[in-house]
Amino acid sequence: MHYEDTIAAISTPVGQGGIGIVRLSGSEALNIADRLFISPKNKKIHETPSHRILYGNIIDPANNDVIDEVLVSVMKAPNTYTKEDVIEINCHGGSVPLRRILELVLKQGARAAEPGEFTHRAFMNGRLDLAQAEAVLDIINSLTLQSQKTAVSQLRGGLSGKIGAIREELIELTAFVEAHIDFPEEDIEDLTLRKMESMACRIKDSLEKLIEGSRYGMILRDGLKTAIAGRPNVGKSSLLNALLEHDRAIVTEMPGTTRDVIEEYLNIQGLPVKIKDTAGIRNVDNIAEKEGVRRSLMAMEDADLVLLVLDGSTELHDTDRELIENSDKGNTIIVINKSDLPQKIHPSVSPLAKGEIKEGSIPTIHISAKKGDGLDELKQQIVEAALHGETGGNTDIVTNTRHIHALEKALASVDSFISESLKNVSPEFLSIELRDALDALGEILGITTPEDILNRIFSHFCIGK
Ligand code: GDP
Repeated sequence: MHYEDTIAAISTPVGQGGIGIVRLSGSEALNIADRLFISPKNKKIHETPSHRILYGNIIDPANNDVIDEVLVSVMKAPNTYTKEDVIEINCHGGSVPLRRILELVLKQGARAAEPGEFTHRAFMNGRLDLAQAEAVLDIINSLTLQSQKTAVSQLRGGLSGKIGAIREELIELTAFVEAHIDFPEEDIEDLTLRKMESMACRIKDSLEKLIEGSRYGMILRDGLKTAIAGRPNVGKSSLLNALLEHDRAIVTEMPGTTRDVIEEYLNIQGLPVKIKDTAGIRNVDNIAEKEGVRRSLMAMEDADLVLLVLDGSTELHDTDRELIENSDKGNTIIVINKSDLPQKIHPSVSPLAKGEIKEGSIPTIHISAKKGDGLDELKQQIVEAALHGETGGNTDIVTNTRHIHALEKALASVDSFISESLKNVSPEFLSIELRDALDALGEILGITTPEDILNRIFSHFCIGK
């Protein structure tokens, strides 16, 4: 696609840094830069071979004032990020030089880029498919090394390749089915039907595998939502602090809240673990047990994993039992804390043996948050709970809700194709199901994605990307 205008933006973060970059893309990028750039040896940007860097100064052509000393990267179409001519002006990383250079570039005829517009152009010009473009955003936002590796693999086309392969099989099946529409008066033969069905089942199988893997993919991208629950004084804050001491990744305050909810990220063996820490649960000593339970139950509600903390140095309280009863066996780890003190909940006796829940049905771990004993074992359990049988090393996985929905849509269509083909429905109807499935997969790669959705995706990028 050819765009008329040349776009420009500051591509480095706001604030001070060693260097800052003003990026231009478009057919006028070289000319605009040439009008602002002076090199000691009078080198011209448009005469410079592609992928070279020139040293010189940016000047204001109105009065020949030197704005800054710069390096200019010259990248000529088509082997660039956007497939257009791209110029990157590397100046000193303060907001004043960056802004002055951007203003000059705009005065020379460039247009200020919208958020994500460079990547949007890369997509429209066929350099990236949509899943790859989205991976760029995921690389920028990745929480841990493992999340970043998955995003890089997606940018390199790992996931797109898998989806493309399924799409190819679907196209083959559609062609096969549509060949029979040409002879609608004929009944489809048994052999043909069986062939259609086995092709469709293979496609269904691949789609299901991708959807299954997406649970772990979403955790890698957004973090494992973890709640630390338990009655007051069992050691929840101590456990959180003990974990944070070694593995704190990033701390973000959730937008819209000031002090109520803080999200703490741990990096446990590459797994981003997001612990929602309510200010109430922390730093409040003598809150009533009832209130403690209420807060714990709330925290447990939308968690992927619950660490249910008990105090091993005291007998089980009714409150503990209530929390155990309310926990989902599939996503809870019981953490018996204070193992450094004489134990009332004996290590060899499950606290659950009293009949509330069958012994052994929830993984149980003994730790001392105070001394740090048992923390490694707990972390191992957390990782296993997140993996749920996944290998963890696989990077060609789906990490994006939009992609998961599209895969589910495709699967539903293939499913009804299979059940309808068994009923010997006319090929015309069968073909509609397959075309729906094709469209759904095309949406992931950006082949059939509506314009408004494209715009929404790119609006999440920062300006300059
Ligand atoms: P929370 O109300 O559940 O967050 O509990 P805290 O983390 O505030 O801990 C309550 C009390 O138990 C504090 O006095 C802690 O020092 C103490 N505590 C926490 N963990 C341990 C532990 O592993 N061993 C011992 N001996 N004391 C602990």
